[in-house]
Amino acid sequence: MMLVEKNVPLQSFNTFGIVAKALSLVRVHSEADIAQVLADPALRGTPVFVLGGGSNIVLTGDVRPLVLKVEIMGKHLLRETDKAWIVEAGAGENWHDLVAWTIENGYPGLENLALIPGTVGASPVQNIGAYGVELQDRFESLDAVDLTTGQTFTLDAAQCAFGYRDSVFKHQSIGTAAGKPGFGLEGKALITRVRFALPKNWKPVLGYADIEKKIAQYGREPASIQPTALQIYEWICEIRRAKLPNPEVIGNAGSFFKNPTVSAEQCADIIQREPKIVHYKLADGSVKLAAGWLIDACGWKGKHIGNAGVYERQALVLVNRGGKSNPVTGGEVMTLAKSIQTSVYERFGIRLEHEPVVV
Ligand SMILES: Cc1cc2nc3c(=O)[nH]c(=O)nc-3n(C[C@H](O)[C@H](O)[C@H](O)COP(=O)(O)OP(=O)(O)OC[C@H]3O[C@@H](n4cnc5c(N)ncnc54)[C@H](O)[C@@H]3O)c2cc1C
Repeated sequence: MMLVEKNVPLQSFNTFGIVAKALSLVRVHSEADIAQVLADPALRGTPVFVLGGGSNIVLTGDVRPLVLKVEIMGKHLLRETDKAWIVEAGAGENWHDLVAWTIENGYPGLENLALIPGTVGASPVQNIGAYGVELQDRFESLDAVDLTTGQTFTLDAAQCAFGYRDSVFKHQSIGTAAGKPGFGLEGKALITRVRFALPKNWKPVLGYADIEKKIAQYGREPASIQPTALQIYEWICEIRRAKLPNPEVIGNAGSFFKNPTVSAEQCADIIQREPKIVHYKLADGSVKLAAGWLIDACGWKGKHIGNAGVYERQALVLVNRGGKSNPVTGGEVMTLAKSIQTSVYERFGIRLEHEPVVV
């Protein structure tokens, strides 16, 4: 029997800890629950918002669309091929718990993505990534339900159109994906299950300065050490705990802005003015700039507007300075975000794009 909960407080369902209500909320445990929502004469056709762990959203008021809170559970080894273990997980599973489970069971490959908050079902939406690995590197396929027709469908990696913090789930059909007119599923699909291909011929992904520092603690050259997946998992957990605020303690939504990409010419021009700018060359010749560095260079680290603050240790993270008792509002977060975007644009001519979904 489907239960429609009314006026549900969302403060504990979003990692910023913003106070807002869902006027109506249904917990989705299976495809059958979605079918019931779509068949219900009172709910059919109403706008919906799909909620996972609330770790990549900014709530700017009460949520009027029907909130479908994804709680589809289960994780298991589905099958194995010569090259990979195929692990399947329900969309409501906690992402980090899945990573830990795969490592414990000897299926390596997700270790660099340890401790990212949120659910399995949201992981393809922005193609989560950290420390040199993106979801798309380990993705096999997903199942989803079309929220207008109720039909289930399966997408492979190509159909998900993954990009940097991007996928088909972040675009509307009539809009454009990476500048190309195309097919989009934003707000139209609920991902129910995700399958991962975890490589039998596993190799550690090291390359990142923070990981190399951990290796150096062992007094070895990075090239001479072959850490296990478990070792990397533990390093990543240590690095992230030292660097990022724990949302249980200081509300936040992780990196607030995407790292912008500029052409090699634009970058050369900026380097002339700002020789210390942190940048990474990409395979296609373009250059990715560290958004945190740009924000810090504009003097924002530790500053605040109302209860919305820029984290003292990492300028890319916006935080709730008011805690649970006097929490930041979505309006304050977005005012701070806009002020940062304006300063970065005025100083560097670069438009920062925010990463979380504004609801
Ligand atoms: C401290 C911290 C650190 C972080 N570090 C990283 C990082 O290193 N790398 C990174 O990529 N991200 C990072 N994030 C962002 C966040 O963890 C990810 O984006 C995560 O995948 C969001 O999952 P969620 O379940 O909380 O999604 P939510 O915030 O609930 O939703 C995000 C979006 O996905 C949609 N969605 C959610 N579930 C589904 C579903 N089942 N089907 C369809 N659509 C769905 C929602 O409608 C919404 O549009 C961090 C966040 C925090 C708070």
